[in-house]
This record gives sequence, structure tokens and C-alpha cells, in this order.
Amino acid sequence: MSETLLYEGKAKKIFTTDEDGVVLHRFKDDATAFNAEKRGSWEDKGKTNAAITTALFGYLEEHGIPSHFIEQVDENTIKTKKLDMLPVEVVVRNVAAGSLAKRIGYEEGTPLRSPVVELYYKSDALGDPLLNWRHFQELGVSDEDLEFCEELGLRVNEALWPFFDERGVTLVDFKIEVGKDETGTPMLADEISPDTCRFWDKETGERMDKDRFRRDLGGVEDAYAEMLRRVTEAKS
Ligand code: ADP
Ligand code: UDP
Repeated sequence: MSETLLYEGKAKKIFTTDEDGVVLHRFKDDATAFNAEKRGSWEDKGKTNAAITTALFGYLEEHGIPSHFIEQVDENTIKTKKLDMLPVEVVVRNVAAGSLAKRIGYEEGTPLRSPVVELYYKSDALGDPLLNWRHFQELGVSDEDLEFCEELGLRVNEALWPFFDERGVTLVDFKIEVGKDETGTPMLADEISPDTCRFWDKETGERMDKDRFRRDLGGVEDAYAEMLRRVTEAKS
């Protein structure tokens, strides 16, 4: 099967293949933060995130949330539908952390009354700013698509919160992306992993996600490995 590099991002390389409408996502061991000002890399990051993403997209599919995911093809690589991505990063939060804690003046760890959804403009040049619906309208993103993004974010949260809770993890917040297939049908895309979520141990509050890298907390490899173990552990 011939592969052509379509796009190299910060965490993944996207390849087209002989199969029409299908792409491969090869997860890299590289990590970036603060709009790529901070860079790092560790062994097994790519394969850990590929395995976690595979497990979570599988779980979501079983719970009525289809995505671009088709199958995992090797340790670092998943096969998905090729989509036209919306320039939107959908963030859903259950507990104040990171930029929300700063924005609204909450201490990190404060539970939110109900899940908060935010829409960021996916633009490295601008540093992914938080925009409102009118800004997105100006940029040509339809209200219908924004509504889909927000509703999907909340549905993913409703499905994943109990999944992680059962595994001793608080799903503090996460980011998803949305793309449209050739018929114009929007769906969940990209990845769901410790790179794109905040996972806190329910008992100890320990962070088991990319904040260990962002904030130089140490133990990042072990934290990702522990999340893989919890995500893939069998539950009745
Ligand atoms: P970034 O672009 O932020 O550096 P990545 O390294 O994760 O991020 O690159 C993956 C890229 O692939 C992202 O730009 C993402 O929007 C895009 N993408 C995710 N899912 C699909 C898909 N099914 N089809 C096409 N592109 C996708
Ligand atoms: N997030 C992401 N990609 C981004 C920005 C944020 O995956 O480009 C995730 C991040 O890992 C966290 C959530 O979205 O789970 C909310 O991030 P926040 O805005 O608090 O980001 P910070 O500024 O703290 O990185």
C-alpha cells in the first residue's frame, strides 16, 4: 500500500493511501505546548496515544457516538475517514483548570455547576483564540455546524464522564475536533488522549495528562502508561 504524506502536525502525521476517502494518522512521540514554544518527546508516547484513542473511539461508537475511526493498523497508526475539518476546537469542562481558571478567576479544581463548552478557532498563527458565534459566522462557519460542535461535545462528555469515573479518574476537561465526510455529514474526528484531555486521579488528585509535560511535573511517561492501563482495563 503506497502512502503519501498529506500533512505533518505537531503530534501526528497524516497520510493518504490507495484507498479513497481514507487517511492514516501516525502518532508521533513528539509533544508540544504553549503553541509549540515548548517541545519535547518521549518513547512510547505515540503508541500510547494511538491505543487510548482507539479504545475511546470504540467505546463512543458502542455508545451511539460514531466518529471518523475505522481501525488501528499498527502500534502507532489508526485508519480513519478523510474529513474536511471545521476550524474549531471544541473544549468541554467539568472542573475549572488551565485557561478557564484564569479567565473566570476560579481556583484550579473548582467543580463547575454544569459542563461548560467553549469554541476555539483552530489557528496556530493566532494561538487558537476563544471566539464567539458571531466571530465564527464572520469566518464562514455556520450556526448549524457550531450547534453540532456544542451538542457533540456535551454528548461525548456524558459518555466519557462515567467511563473515567469507574476507572478512578476525573475527566476535568477535554478537546475534540469535528470534520465532514464527502456527503457533508459532520462527525467526531482527530484523537482523544492524555494530550487532549485533563485526567486527575479521583483519590489523590494526581495529574495523568499533558500538564505533567506543560508544567514540568515529571513522571509523564508513567502517567500516560497508567492512563492506558485504566482505559483498557476490563469493567463489568
Ligand atoms: P496539529 O495540526 O494541531 O499540529 P496534529 O499533529 O494532531 O495536530 O495533526 C492532526 C491534524 O489532522 C489536525 O490538523 C486535525 O485537524 C487533522 N485531522 C484530524 N482528523 C482528521 C480526518 N479524519 N481527516 C482529515 N484531517 C484530520
Ligand atoms: N487542549 C488541546 N489542544 C489545544 C488546547 C487545549 O487538546 O490546542 C485541551 C487541553 O489539553 C485541555 C483542554 O483542551 O484538556 C482545555 O485546555 P485549556 O484551554 O485549559 O488549555 P491550556 O491553556 O491550559 O493549555
